[in-house]
Amino acid sequence: MDRVKLFIEKFAYPYMEKRMGNQIRGMLNELKKYESFTPQQLTALRKKKLEYLLTECIHSVPAYEPYKHLEEEIKNNPAAALKQFPVLTKDNFREGFYSYLNKGANAVALVENFTRGTTGEPVKFFMDRHMVGYYEAARWRGLSWWGITPGSRSVMIWGNPSDYEKYGSKTYRRREKLLKNRIMIPDIALKAEEMESHLRDIREFSPEYVYGYASALHLFSRLMLEQNLNLGLQIKAVVSTAEILHDHEREDIEKAFGCPVVNEYGARDGGIIAYQCREGSMHISAENVVLEVVDPVSLETLPKGEIGALLVTDLNNYVMPRLRYRIGDRAALSEKFCPCGMGLPVLEKLEGRED
Ligand SMILES: [Zn+2]
Repeated sequence: MDRVKLFIEKFAYPYMEKRMGNQIRGMLNELKKYESFTPQQLTALRKKKLEYLLTECIHSVPAYEPYKHLEEEIKNNPAAALKQFPVLTKDNFREGFYSYLNKGANAVALVENFTRGTTGEPVKFFMDRHMVGYYEAARWRGLSWWGITPGSRSVMIWGNPSDYEKYGSKTYRRREKLLKNRIMIPDIALKAEEMESHLRDIREFSPEYVYGYASALHLFSRLMLEQNLNLGLQIKAVVSTAEILHDHEREDIEKAFGCPVVNEYGARDGGIIAYQCREGSMHISAENVVLEVVDPVSLETLPKGEIGALLVTDLNNYVMPRLRYRIGDRAALSEKFCPCGMGLPVLEKLEGRED
């Protein structure tokens, strides 16, 4: 029995919910319910959420106030109204930064975060607990398809330099272990001669899954394969995030860990956009985002199946809304439904960075 998991389920989560207004488990239950929705039910739900978001934008977000004339259309056909708003690039967003902040936003509740612009420069944005809650819930929903639940023990093989420093602290490591049931192996620590010791640590910790950057997981797997090393442990999945997972990387990771490799597609400034199910489809978090694929030059909507620039509208972001936000990735939507039976639409292709 995993005592830390039990502690997280019985005490840590209920405590956070009570004291900090953390609603992730409630949101997760809500998203789980939508899995069995028919496409028509999902469309109705998305219509309602989009109508609410766009109405909020034209009344309370200075950058979108010039679109008040769309009010009637937003009520009747919000999906068509959305297409009349401009495509928003990261550069445009950075230039007009404060005009995207909701006039009614509670300054104390804003959480600052950064993403990368097209040429690598940082782009700042604000979030609030409501949208972050849905990001987290969408991640847990995707993980639930693989038998993983909040509190499940994990090892992170991580490639984000901003986390290395935090991880140097003993207190931080202890807190991660006790409150999140996870340990981290930074990718800068991955050296051929230390692989046996890393594998020993993982075996000892006995995680349900391994989570990490695609490139870090791949490096780890290559080092295992080159030295003929085994994990010596059956885990539920290796979950790849933050970077595009290439086919050759997936093959190596699968071979090294001997378990399914799951692709999580998300962005700091877009949340969990899609998650891979057991049939291999990338299911879109359709209750959280509206996705469009447009021609990169003319910005005309492309038919499903054609690859182009991906635009993301976060349906839960009222605090600093970015409509039709050009996230910087290339993708194609699909008309097909997945044999797994969920009504959530799927991404047909995901090709990563536009540049
Ligand atoms: Zn599926």
